[in-house]
Amino acid sequence: MKKQFIVIGLGRFGSSLTKTLMEAGHEVLAVDKDLSLVQEMAEIATHAIQADSTDESVLKELGAGNFHHAVVAIGENLQASILTTLILKEMNVPKVTVKARNIMHGKVLAKIGADQIVYPERDMGIRLGKQLSSDNLIDYIQLSPHYHLVEMKAPKAMNGYTLQELDIRAKYGITVMAIRSGDDINVSPRADEKIQTGDTLLLIGSSEEINHLERKYE
Ligand code: ADP
Repeated sequence: MKKQFIVIGLGRFGSSLTKTLMEAGHEVLAVDKDLSLVQEMAEIATHAIQADSTDESVLKELGAGNFHHAVVAIGENLQASILTTLILKEMNVPKVTVKARNIMHGKVLAKIGADQIVYPERDMGIRLGKQLSSDNLIDYIQLSPHYHLVEMKAPKAMNGYTLQELDIRAKYGITVMAIRSGDDINVSPRADEKIQTGDTLLLIGSSEEINHLERKYE
């Protein structure tokens, strides 16, 4: 379903977000106070407008209150980020996602009603750190504070064994969601499915459980 977003702040984060939303078929009103960034985005976004989002009357004129989802992607200027979030929440925008620079910024945003707070630099650092520190881990997505979705190269020691023989769920508490072999992906694999070297496993588990599995198959 087509959704309408307003994205405020068109730096590296806001502009790549806008492009991705447009490619996915949604509508985006892109806003920045910097005219050159607005001009760049004018080719991509549904509408691109130069405005200072800390000015409540300007946001009203833009009809920001009619959007279902707003994203505040102002990184450097904390005051502008906080004020913009406050105005959007006072205008009753149902969902406001805000990029935070650090935990203190995030705490303030939570207090004034931001619905979703993201820490892209911190999260990317964690994600890359997990990838680099493991030989088998390909990618890692945090689903909740405890649960992760992990893409992992099937360790050599699993080669030729079925899921039942490996007994990963009972031994480690981890669910194997899918097995990818080359271009084929087997979603919800059966217990008698054999794992081969070169396969990629898609797993869900807690970080302790995943670490446990990784150590066992190092
Ligand atoms: P990134 O790390 O994503 O590049 P930046 O902090 O560099 O983030 O970019 C934030 C953008 O937000 C900048 O383009 C800046 O012009 C814009 N911005 C900052 N304050 C305001 C404001 N009050 N109104 C509109 N845009 C703003």
